[in-house]
Amino acid sequence: MQTRLSSEFIDTPEGREADSILRACVHCGFCTATCPTYQLLGNELDGPRGRIYLIKQMLEGEPVSDKTRLHLDRCLTCRACETTCPSGVRYARLADIGREIAEQKVPRRGLDGLGRLLLRKLIPYPRRFAPLLRAGQWLRPLLPRALRNKVPAVQQPGAWPSQAHARRMLVLAGCVQSVGTPATNAACARVLDRLGISLVEAGGAGCCGAVSHHLSASQEARAFMRRNIDAWWPHIEQGAEAIVITASGCGALVKEYGDLLQHDADYADKARRVSAMTKDISEVLDAGNLPQGRPPAGQHKVAFHSPCTLQHAQQLQGVVEPLLERAGYRLTEVADAHLCCGSAGTYSILQPALSKQLLGRKLEALQGDAPDIIATANIGCQLHLAGASRVPVKHWIELLDEALAGE
Ligand code: SF4
Ligand code: SF4
Repeated sequence: MQTRLSSEFIDTPEGREADSILRACVHCGFCTATCPTYQLLGNELDGPRGRIYLIKQMLEGEPVSDKTRLHLDRCLTCRACETTCPSGVRYARLADIGREIAEQKVPRRGLDGLGRLLLRKLIPYPRRFAPLLRAGQWLRPLLPRALRNKVPAVQQPGAWPSQAHARRMLVLAGCVQSVGTPATNAACARVLDRLGISLVEAGGAGCCGAVSHHLSASQEARAFMRRNIDAWWPHIEQGAEAIVITASGCGALVKEYGDLLQHDADYADKARRVSAMTKDISEVLDAGNLPQGRPPAGQHKVAFHSPCTLQHAQQLQGVVEPLLERAGYRLTEVADAHLCCGSAGTYSILQPALSKQLLGRKLEALQGDAPDIIATANIGCQLHLAGASRVPVKHWIELLDEALAGE
């Protein structure tokens, strides 16, 4: 694609990066076929190729309107288009740059702007979020159904292993996951303990920065990134082997710290090292070395939902399934497994109508073969699916832990 960036962007780092991404696109449109929002809305501007054109026009100095921003807002950043694209176009990075520019050109007003600010000031901070969650859980039986479905049930995480091993890995506690689904990291710690690895949550680490990043607050996101790097660095220097992440949405972003902090002289090297040693928990385990397991009675048949951040952003396809099979589970066939469930970070709150349609389609596909349970790999998908599913929804590492404990 030929471009002629306006003088406003031609010499900025973001402008140069966007330009090189735009030039890789040959506007073939293959990506449109796998875009969930194009499938729902049938409008070229609600598909990747149309959005790429909108961003190109912005960078070339064309007027930006509410309509431009609306089509960018409707994008889930699911990155199915990147998996499909034969030219390797880095759509998500382009969308990040485009959204930030649209945000500056057409500032949000009223409730739209206030709602986004509230999400940024609430979700990444467990001390602010936890009391609200606890109140919601306490009042759950009294809440209207639509709201009740959004409040996760209280989890009993079980014991964190006390034995210290010579092999150590760090784990990201995260923000919402640390208070909403504490069973995930506890199960992960027990699985790794059986393999002779201690899992350590570094004090001072917190939100990965994804909430701010995807709401176009890039400076705020970078502050979260630097804080995590500072918290992890002493442990890395003392020999921690990896940074294990059990929420694929967070993992996808931490793997990008190196790119996102490349112009920060103080953090660029550390960020590159942190990204290189970040692993989704499915990358740490090896089905060949895993003990066999015995799933709990009546929970053998599993439908696995691979989050977009696992299969498209991290390109980890077909990695979890053999681990579950090794542990004794039987996996069902799931149609259209490449499509997003509609959770997509804050998307389910900001675009509820589209999100609900995607959730309905996804649950139909997941429940089609009558599973006993649905497993996934990201807290956002887990809570989103659990709010409307007929069967329980868990993180797959919990299933692995239960099966290994049962053997
Ligand atoms: S992003 Fe890739 S698949 Fe989509 S139009 Fe451009 S080159 Fe084609
Ligand atoms: S990221 Fe997902 S929703 Fe956005 S354009 Fe690509 S395929 Fe469509």
